[in-house]
Amino acid sequence: MKAEIIAVGTELLLGQIVNTNAQAISQKLAELGIDVYFQTVVGDNAARLRQAIEIGRGRADLLLFTGGLGPTQDDLTKDVLADYLGRGLHIHEPSMSAIENLFSSRGMAMVESNRRQALMIEGCVPLPNATGLAVGNALKEDGTLYMLLPGPPKEMKPMLEGPGQEWLRSMLGEEKPLFSRLLKFAGIGESNLEAKLIDLIENQVDPTLAPYAKEGEVSIRVSTKAATAKEADGKIDAAVETIKARVGEHLYAQEDIPIEEQIVKLLRKSGRRLACAESCSGGLFAELVTNVPGSSGEFVGGVVTYTNVMKNKLLGIPMSQMEGPGAPGAISESTAKLMAENVRLIADADFGVSLTGVAGPAEAEGKPVGLVYFAIAEKGKETIVHTTNLSGGRSIIRLRAVKAAMYRLWQ
Ligand code: ATP
Ligand code: MG
Repeated sequence: MKAEIIAVGTELLLGQIVNTNAQAISQKLAELGIDVYFQTVVGDNAARLRQAIEIGRGRADLLLFTGGLGPTQDDLTKDVLADYLGRGLHIHEPSMSAIENLFSSRGMAMVESNRRQALMIEGCVPLPNATGLAVGNALKEDGTLYMLLPGPPKEMKPMLEGPGQEWLRSMLGEEKPLFSRLLKFAGIGESNLEAKLIDLIENQVDPTLAPYAKEGEVSIRVSTKAATAKEADGKIDAAVETIKARVGEHLYAQEDIPIEEQIVKLLRKSGRRLACAESCSGGLFAELVTNVPGSSGEFVGGVVTYTNVMKNKLLGIPMSQMEGPGAPGAISESTAKLMAENVRLIADADFGVSLTGVAGPAEAEGKPVGLVYFAIAEKGKETIVHTTNLSGGRSIIRLRAVKAAMYRLWQ
């Protein structure tokens, strides 16, 4: 819940008194877990107070006023808010009796203006004033909470500590719990994903969408407040459909799992197995797949063939393919293809994945940093080779290359 404190009083603006109420109220709200986003000070002026209400309502869920509940003509808070909300004002009888009793017990004549301190905005909950005369008001309308407290700290504090706090707690308890779902994407960068969903990310309030990137993957958290998990699911499902229509081909999970886990799950389902041959990624592909518990049923094994000799000896890639005049080179589409196909055959697996490229910091074979070829060889199918140009440092390039290969494998 976001709150704004609106302190009303020209003497505050003139610097005649310090706004200690704002401090006290902020401390109390923080204690209640309510975030104060703004503190406003406005003079005893109806038009500007109305303006403050209008602005506050647009940016906070709770507007907490202090000051201007007294008997005089410059005490306007209740009148202005009642007028703004289109509600009437009426006398709160218990407060009125208390005021009358006080005057009669002191043998003083009550002035008509003292009646103003017993005023209540229609539909408000009264907040009794234990140390003064003006009754406080609390109201919920259209999802916005309003609380009106007196200005004098010796009245404001006990009211906030007592009936005010109690009312706020009951309102907080009414708040529906937050539900959220994590959508995981692969094969698309964070900025690209954001660009495709920017209108939803910026404007959609229920559910809200929050994108973030970590460990070479991008995610979007879809959150909503709802009474039940079922109601939340309905709202989140609808948002997911909108997202899918734009970037569905990159959405690989609706829970917080890395793509390698999703791959292992899919392989398990179809009873198929995977092997890999890595050059520039130095074993990272195998490392991530074997991080998934129980992946031994799906992952046969892999080799790290970093030099051409190793590619030749372990995978049977002809030296003439990698070296010598006119050779495509170790970093090439055709080498990636052979690596994937050969490792698949050697391992007797259903899929063979290979990665060969330039992780940096320097170029290799006259090829630029970030150029990575990866291939997916599938039993009974034509091998597909992908080319990517990745940016970032060495470790990021390696990680992104591996995740890109996993994305294609998942597809
Ligand atoms: P009253 O019945 O005394 O008129 P009120 O609710 O109308 O109370 P104000 O008239 O705005 O409140 O202020 C009364 C006095 O309370 C001020 O003169 C000042 O001493 C104190 N006060 C008001 N607002 C604040 C504030 N934000 N911080 C500290 N003290 C304040
Ligand atoms: Mg006053």
